Amino acid sequence: MRASGAKNDGVLGAPELVKQTWLKHAFGTRHADPDFSPRQWTAVRLKQFHSDLIRVVSAPDAETHLRGDAMITADPGVALMVAAADCLPVLLADPENRVVAAIHAGWRGTLKRITQKTVGAMRAHFGCDPEKIVAAFGPAIQVCCLEVGMEVVDDFRTQFVYSDELFDKLDPVNPALVMLPRQHLTGGHAVMRDLEDRHAFLSLEEANSRQLMDAGVANARIFRSGVCTKCRADLLHSYRREGPGMGQQRSAIGITG
Ligand SMILES: [Zn+2]
Repeated sequence: MRASGAKNDGVLGAPELVKQTWLKHAFGTRHADPDFSPRQWTAVRLKQFHSDLIRVVSAPDAETHLRGDAMITADPGVALMVAAADCLPVLLADPENRVVAAIHAGWRGTLKRITQKTVGAMRAHFGCDPEKIVAAFGPAIQVCCLEVGMEVVDDFRTQFVYSDELFDKLDPVNPALVMLPRQHLTGGHAVMRDLEDRHAFLSLEEANSRQLMDAGVANARIFRSGVCTKCRADLLHSYRREGPGMGQQRSAIGITG
């Protein structure tokens, strides 16, 4: 990940998307929001609620206060803008059909497969070929810091056959114990209480990469930033570090024409 333009304007960009001259994109930081001038762009934002609701939007939607966590457009001049403090911003672009999408994917949206479903919606609405789609992840809380309880691990296990590959340190003390499904833990309350104290670390980048690949996007076309919002206090806001009332990063993508 690097500064998005020749000048250092405080935002970040993905090289794979910078190459796409028909679009503009940026991942904001605590120092700067993406610069999409209202003279040239209509910015569409959603009321995000950690859902898997995907909206196909156009300029009038800037005024409609739609709820949802992913947007798709084929209209030039529409900037799709998502906000996140630890959740993963995902930007997608189909160079062949000139369609773009922006996704807000925290662990809840990831569990609901929002990224996989957004590629499906691009295919259904605009005939996008997933193999042509370029994807970029912005800064998010990374596997170093995204500690979750075992109930989240269990939720992922109900949804993804590869779920255990998405977590690090499933149990640093006793992997054998925690790797057991809960229903096998019939050893009494002490074991259950022990289990509830345990935690693991989720990789949103790995989870969303898997979803993109399951949807048909080529691994080589997925750009992973690896930049952690919680670790990089100098650069980024983080809910987990700052708590409620934290600032948010804005990420945006739009078709220039
Ligand atoms: Zn971190």
